[in-house]
Amino acid sequence: MITCGFCSKRAVAHSPYLHAYLCKDHFISYYEERVKLTIKKFNLIKPGDRVAVAVSGGKDSLTMLYLLTKFSGNMKYELFAITIDEGIKGYSDVRVMNLKKNAGKMGIELYVTSFKEEIGMSLDEATEVLKKRGFEYKPCTVCGVFRRYLMNKTARELGATKLATGHNLDDEAQVFLMNALRGALPNIIREGLITEYALHEKMVPRIKPLYFIPEKETLIYSKLIGLDVFLEAECPYVIYSMRHPLRHWLNKLEWKTPYTKYKVIATKELILSLLRDKRGREHIGTCKVCGEPSSTYICKTCFYKGYLGIKI
Ligand code: SF4
Ligand code: ZN
Repeated sequence: MITCGFCSKRAVAHSPYLHAYLCKDHFISYYEERVKLTIKKFNLIKPGDRVAVAVSGGKDSLTMLYLLTKFSGNMKYELFAITIDEGIKGYSDVRVMNLKKNAGKMGIELYVTSFKEEIGMSLDEATEVLKKRGFEYKPCTVCGVFRRYLMNKTARELGATKLATGHNLDDEAQVFLMNALRGALPNIIREGLITEYALHEKMVPRIKPLYFIPEKETLIYSKLIGLDVFLEAECPYVIYSMRHPLRHWLNKLEWKTPYTKYKVIATKELILSLLRDKRGREHIGTCKVCGEPSSTYICKTCFYKGYLGIKI
């Protein structure tokens, strides 16, 4: 039996940071302390903040909701949860139902906003149009744009001063590599642990408390504390995403060469510090159609709405 490096109990996980095996209790406190440290060290949340927690119902966002609820008393901030119903039959509906149950158990208010009501079309309907037009744009691209737009707008309208998302180390490494492969430098500069870099009065600063935590560790943590994670269904459109094969490739690489994901993030942080110092803070413009923040004349949401034939 492998025992914990800090006591004699049975080990349940290995920590690459500590180079040690950990029992259930030590893994839980190690995990929670790392998230707390990230929040404190990088000043992600200040006393008096009103934090909107973006939840999908997956292990990362539920873990984040659980921990932010747990820390809120000592750190003196208030929080509520928001989720977006994309309108994917057999997926969004089940997910939202599970979330309502979880938020209720944690005593957190959950606000649900839908593509259908706010954008004018569900993702299922949008995908039909994309299909007819030869998938020039993929469902995930449109979904991501609409979701970010609605998250920011909903959080702001509900008075949030921060918008917390459950992105973890794996997500950040994947997004960085995708942006690098596309040569999308502005996207790389904008993405980070806290997105205060791009300024606009209507933009709620986004924070990522799980930024340095590998997906695998959150999976272990969520199981150890018994979170009721939504696992039943996978989004049917994931197969169209470029991220899908990249995720598998990165996982294989990590398995053969441990710490690859940490190294990708370290490289990203180095590039960010060099680029941000040179360019200074970016002031985002305003979409001429909807009035929401946009780095182009018309925001991506209005562009895709027009493309899909939705009245703007
Ligand atoms: Fe949206 Fe793509 Fe995620 Fe499905 S897999 S919810 S389409 S981003
Ligand atoms: Zn717009």
